[in-house]
Amino acid sequence: MFEDLSSKIESAVQTLKGQSRITDVNIAETVREIRRALLDADVNLDVAREFTNNIKEKVMGSGVLTSVNPGQQFTKIVYDEMVQILGETRSDIAVANTPPTVILIAGLQGSGKTTFSGKLARYLKTENNRNPILAAADVYRPAAINQLKTLADDIGVPVYSIEQKDPVRVAREAVSMAKSLALDTVIIDTAGRMHVDEQMMNEVAEIKKAVNPHEILFVVDAMTGQDAVNTAKAFNETIDFDGVVLTKMDGDTRGGAALSIRSVVEKPIKFMSTGEKLDALSPFYPDRLAQRILG
Ligand code: GDP
Repeated sequence: MFEDLSSKIESAVQTLKGQSRITDVNIAETVREIRRALLDADVNLDVAREFTNNIKEKVMGSGVLTSVNPGQQFTKIVYDEMVQILGETRSDIAVANTPPTVILIAGLQGSGKTTFSGKLARYLKTENNRNPILAAADVYRPAAINQLKTLADDIGVPVYSIEQKDPVRVAREAVSMAKSLALDTVIIDTAGRMHVDEQMMNEVAEIKKAVNPHEILFVVDAMTGQDAVNTAKAFNETIDFDGVVLTKMDGDTRGGAALSIRSVVEKPIKFMSTGEKLDALSPFYPDRLAQRILG
């Protein structure tokens, strides 16, 4: 992911650096090339426009043209702007004052929601010394419950599930169980659908009302591009979630979703997942991703 974008931005900046004297015409051409590279990478049109307008404004207002090392200064401005659209700083997940912390995981079917629930349990256990319980509220697909149980076994954390197809009850009882076992975190894996539809929203809204989660994370498959961004936007308008999880960041697609989602949805990206293995998860650092993209 991002290889094509990286090389196009690099070549645009190299051309600029090669000029003996940089003029505002050169700057305008480079900025245009960067905008084209962003659009080729499937970045949302408004985000690409704002990104490049901001760069142009900062370059013009900062004396870059007359500075000793204009190419380097220009690169710094592009980097700062990229960090900005990715969310600026790391945004952590909430911790309840009185345990257990309840974390609700939502997302479309196939987005990587169940895998992420397992990864998050593992992450909180190994990195933060927490004692999570997983709640199997994706009650319609027995395969999903079994998948969660297998993940939980691998990590060594308990799973709460029931026979009945009642996701609200699963969520509520998992929270009670956490309290009685003195477990400090409940991670609720909900049912995904092929599209964000009313039924999916209603179900998540009901669980939200029943257990009042401290954190709602929306999982999106970064390989699905602008569809992922639109889905997150629609879901957020109804559910008002706290953060986004980007999965399949190891894929070889163009990466536009990752670069657009923060600005379009106006919610922070909190984690990114880079593979199928349980340890392929990391907190999301805007500066690190910007560095990876810009080399
Ligand atoms: P759910 O339907 O949203 O619960 O999705 P799953 O957790 O079952 O994941 C769907 C598929 O995507 C599975 O085959 C996972 O192994 C795979 N998957 C999940 N996260 C990642 C990731 O970060 N990278 C890659 N390459 N595959 C992933």
